[in-house]
Amino acid sequence: MQFKPFEAGVEVNGQTVYAIVDGFKMFKRIPSQILLAEGIGQLGANDVVQIDPLAWYSQAAWLRAFERIAKEVGTIHLYAIGAKIPENAKFPPSVTDVATAIQAIDVAYHMNHRAGGRVLFDAVTGRMYEGIGHYGFAQPGPRHIVSRCENPYPCDFDRGIITTMARRFEKTALIEHDDSQPCRQRGDDSCTYSVTW
Ligand SMILES: [Zn+2]
Repeated sequence: MQFKPFEAGVEVNGQTVYAIVDGFKMFKRIPSQILLAEGIGQLGANDVVQIDPLAWYSQAAWLRAFERIAKEVGTIHLYAIGAKIPENAKFPPSVTDVATAIQAIDVAYHMNHRAGGRVLFDAVTGRMYEGIGHYGFAQPGPRHIVSRCENPYPCDFDRGIITTMARRFEKTALIEHDDSQPCRQRGDDSCTYSVTW
């Protein structure tokens, strides 16, 4: 279900958290107030929240901020925040085309979260640790990718991430939410997106 952590004690890095502010072109006070109310960041100049990019913040609190944005401001903003994630979060250098870009989302997702003080992807050993779900990858055709996203983030947010990652390499890529599959907006555990180009 969207907005509910899979496990307690998970943290997300500040660089990623900042996307929630960056997703608002104007009116950055709105996400700032919501993050501050959830105990994330410090009040900075012009009432915009300051996030330390190197610090770690509670995933549960960050997800509550998403839930409030969805309810109080609108789910369209969740898409815009997701679209800003690739600019804000760390991504591995292996990304060279649409396939490697979509494939890298799950690695980046784990690189930007930690649990019990341990980052959930070890770049040295290539080992991934569980606790936050996944961004799936399947390639049924040469110009067709399917990503089943089973994680606590909202449906529209993940559509934003996948759209930006795909269009970085194929400007006209079509990203569709597969309505015949489960959807987190309906209380399910996953959403499935199809990317064609
Ligand atoms: Zn969905």
